[in-house]
This record gives sequence, C-alpha cells and structure tokens, in this order.
Amino acid sequence: MEIFTELTEMGHERVLLCSNKDVGLKAIIAVHSTVCGPGLGGLRMYPFKSFDDAMRDVLRLSRGMTYKAAAAGLNLGGGKAVILGDPKKDKSEALFRAFGRFVESLGGLYITAEDVGTDMDDMETILTESRWVTGVSPSHGGSGDPSPVTAFGVLQGMKAAAKWQFGDASLAERSVAIQGLGSVGYHLASYLKKEGATVLGSDIDEERVEKARYELGVKIVPGDEILEVDCDILAPCALGASINQASIPKLRCRVVAGAANNQLDNEDQDGHALHEKGILYAPDFVINAGGLINVYNELGGSYNRERALRMTRSIYLNLMRVFEISKDEGVPTYEAADQVAEERIENIKKLGVRNWGRMIDGRNC
Ligand code: NAD
Repeated sequence: MEIFTELTEMGHERVLLCSNKDVGLKAIIAVHSTVCGPGLGGLRMYPFKSFDDAMRDVLRLSRGMTYKAAAAGLNLGGGKAVILGDPKKDKSEALFRAFGRFVESLGGLYITAEDVGTDMDDMETILTESRWVTGVSPSHGGSGDPSPVTAFGVLQGMKAAAKWQFGDASLAERSVAIQGLGSVGYHLASYLKKEGATVLGSDIDEERVEKARYELGVKIVPGDEILEVDCDILAPCALGASINQASIPKLRCRVVAGAANNQLDNEDQDGHALHEKGILYAPDFVINAGGLINVYNELGGSYNRERALRMTRSIYLNLMRVFEISKDEGVPTYEAADQVAEERIENIKKLGVRNWGRMIDGRNC
C-alpha cells in the first residue's frame, strides 16, 4: 500500500500500468497534474533493475514536468512514461504500437515525446496508434530534434544570469565551461562561439570531443576537471547530479547554468550550498524548458520554428523573476523557482475550468 501513500504525497492524478504479454510490453504512464493542461512528458526506455525503480523514476519525472511546464507559462501539465526494457535489444514496432494504444486510451490526458532510450522513429510508430505524441519528424508536421531549441533557451538563461551576476547580459567577454558536448552541449557551444564567448568543454565520448574541438574550436578539458576550471559560467549538459557535496567546494565559477535535468544531487543541501557560496544557480527546469516549448508548438497542428524560438526567449524573463524572488525572500533560487511554478498552478486551479480545446486547437482535447 506504500505506493498509494507516495501518490498522495506527490499529488499524482493517475498512474496507468501497461502490460501486453504478446509483445513484451511492460510500461508505466504517470500523469502528475492536468491543472494547466494535458500532462506532456517524454517516454523513457531503460532496463530498470526493478519495478520499484521504474515507478520511482516515472513518479519523480512526471512531477518535474508539471513544474517545468508551469514555470515556462505553458498550458501543459506534467506526465511521463517509462518502458521497462533495453532500448538496444527490446524495441519492436509492435511494442511501440501497443504502448501507443495505452496513450490513446487516456484520451489526451497524457501526451508523449522522446526521452532517454527513445527517438523520433519510435514516436512515429506511436503516431500510428495515437495522435497524442510529439517530437515526430517535420515531414509529419512535427518539430524534429528539440536539442537546438533547448540550447537556444539555455543561452537566453545564461544571458539573464550574466545580467544578474555581472551586471551585463553580454556573453562576449565571458568564459563558459560545458560539461557534456552531446546534442544540447554542442549546439550551446556553437551559439556561445557566435556570441564571442570563450568556450571550454569536456565529454567522455572521444568522437564528440573531436567534433567540438575541430568544428567549433572548443578548448577541451579532460574529464571531471571541467567542474573545477576557473570560468564565469559552468554549464552542466551531461547527466544529472554533477553538482553535489563533492564538486561544490571545488567549483570556481560564479554561475551554474546548463541543460542537464536534476543537476543538484540533493536539491535542498546543494541548492543552499551554492547560495551560500555566492554562486548563482539557474534552476534546471526553468533554463532547459526550450525543448518542451518546442514540442508544445507542435500541438496546434502547424509547427513554426520562429514561433518556438520567440517563446523560448521568455526563459530570460522567467529566470529574472526567479532571481528577484530569491533576492527578495533570501531563499536559494531552486526554492524561488518552485514557488513560481506552485503559485501558477494554484492560481489556475482556482479557475476550476479546463478548456484545453482552446489551448491546443487542432487536437480538439
Ligand atoms: P546527449 O546524450 O546527446 O549528450 C550528453 C553528453 O554528455 C554525451 O555526449 C555524453 O557522452 C556526455 N557525458 C556523459 N557523462 C559525462 C561526464 N561525466 N563528463 C562529460 N561528458 C559526459 O544528451 P542531450 O540531449 O544533449 O541532453 C543533455 C542533458 O540535457 C541531459 O541531462 C538531458 O536530460 C537534458 N535535456 C535535454 C534536452 C534536449 O532537448 N535534448 C531538453 C531538456 C533537458
């Protein structure tokens, strides 16, 4: 019965267990909140060690999506899904079509998208069974790879952080250290180079290192040393939890602003530690919302890159508001960001009416 206590505490509206033994599907869809709109969030495929691990992940991630959408001012709630399986071995057309039928059964309460272990091809397979899917290819009216827009959003967030911390939004004279030169990290480095910044970077994948060095002139720093380099801005763009009790004492940056999800190993402890050290932290779910804003723009039925980029620019102002609350109330920025999201959800809740059809015309939800 522990799961019900957890659901009550975290505030989930609905959790669907999806099973189809004929195609080997074991999946969980978690809809955390539909107060601001349908719960949109990626589908992760991962060889979880246990059902409990998968459940913990999907509950935590779907709640995170509620906060991300709310703080970005989108008419979306929070949802997430996981397929228990190895993406290298267990993928099949039937598996994703079976999953798509479960998505369809929710009638738009949950909208799926790419995540770790799934890609655009998988989304297209789901599209054969359900229209509640984003991140499909531009040839199907979709927005394709979200990484460039996520990177563009991180760039806006960095400018806000630079304005707040250094008094000037320009990144021309700034040094930025990027941990992880993958899809987002590479595009971010490219944007920063155009802004005239000095870009340092690291990756554990030698091919990605070479690409960034050769094509963009990124100065490569070996391994985890990237966390310790003397720089203005550190941009975690690899995996989560790189900001932790071991790395914080070694940081020599004045700002942490990157794309990775769950950058703080322990939100409370590490958020306070950064605050006390005078390092400005741009909360991850606010600064990395560009990808979500991008897929949100698919929902109207006519994706427009220009409109997606224009909406993504709002990340600058969203972060400024977070920094102001943090200063006024003397709280770490992660707390201020939670406050922004929670306030919006509470206010929308007061309306008591859901009119998704008007929010997402074309999908008639
Ligand atoms: P990616 O897998 O393309 O890139 C991540 C890179 O980090 C890889 O090149 C990997 O080799 C590298 N890496 C892993 N561990 C490392 C380490 N210890 N040191 C240095 N490099 C390391 O992923 P991505 O799409 O670029 O996403 C990066 C992060 O941003 C992830 O945390 C992701 O959840 C988050 N994010 C991505 C998007 C998006 O649009 N892709 C949107 C929001 C958030």
